[in-house]
Amino acid sequence: MNQEVELLSRIRVVLVATHHPGNIGSAARAMRNMGLHDLALVTPHRFPDPEATALASGADDILAGATIHETLADAVADCEHVIATTARVRYVSIPFSEPRECVARLAAGQHPGRIAIVFGRERIGLTNEELDHCREAVAIPTDPEFGSMNLAAAVQIMAYELRLAAGAKIPEMPEHHAVPQGQMEHLYNHLEKVLISTSFIDPEAPRYIMRRMRRMFGRAAPDSHEFNIVRGILTSIEEALGLKPTNKRFPHLPQEPKYRPPEAVEQ
Ligand code: SAH
Repeated sequence: MNQEVELLSRIRVVLVATHHPGNIGSAARAMRNMGLHDLALVTPHRFPDPEATALASGADDILAGATIHETLADAVADCEHVIATTARVRYVSIPFSEPRECVARLAAGQHPGRIAIVFGRERIGLTNEELDHCREAVAIPTDPEFGSMNLAAAVQIMAYELRLAAGAKIPEMPEHHAVPQGQMEHLYNHLEKVLISTSFIDPEAPRYIMRRMRRMFGRAAPDSHEFNIVRGILTSIEEALGLKPTNKRFPHLPQEPKYRPPEAVEQ
């Protein structure tokens, strides 16, 4: 098991006496997004409930697997560490910190067993008796004049911090292989030839156009797909000008030049 999955698999989200079933659903969705799976509900007002299912938006497995408990003590009985979340640190008597600091310690292996993160009820949070079952508290920094967050938003932030601390990354961009210089020279020759044909470049007074084009393509460092598109565009211009047999690539289309310059018609 890699480090990321290992930490996340040890986290239990405990929601205490949640009033709105929609918050349970949104919390389940946030958990599933971040790779958390263990949800415990202590005396939820309504559960299961269609509103919870609707807001879970497909995270049904989290709801189906949720355990239901009569007390917080029961929900965290098998946890080695219990962390309360609260908007009001002033009132807690246990050590408290911010989410990032807290999850960094968890990721460093401070508590190698199961870890509960406990969230309180919408209106009044956690009671002092419930805080007695917790060993530390976490407060998400907010505007002190409007510090109480939506329950599911608080779950989302904790779950996200856990995921980051566990080392999760978004998938990397595929490796970029720029076309080698030798091939780029073919492109520059081709471009110059076409631009002379279209009279964009006067061979007698080239005005640094090709140098600028080299600078631009050098900066773009095209890969082989992009390179082939540019070469294809140039070839299609040559075909349209009647400088090359046309529509080789589309044999079902008329094989006439798409555009004949007047002198080509006269010949
Ligand atoms: N008036 C209550 C707010 C409860 S909000 C109070 O002050 O505690 C519901 C739950 O969301 C809280 O119990 C807590 O678990 C979580 N929560 C809300 N805002 C938070 C914050 N700023 N930091 C940490 N948790 C928060």
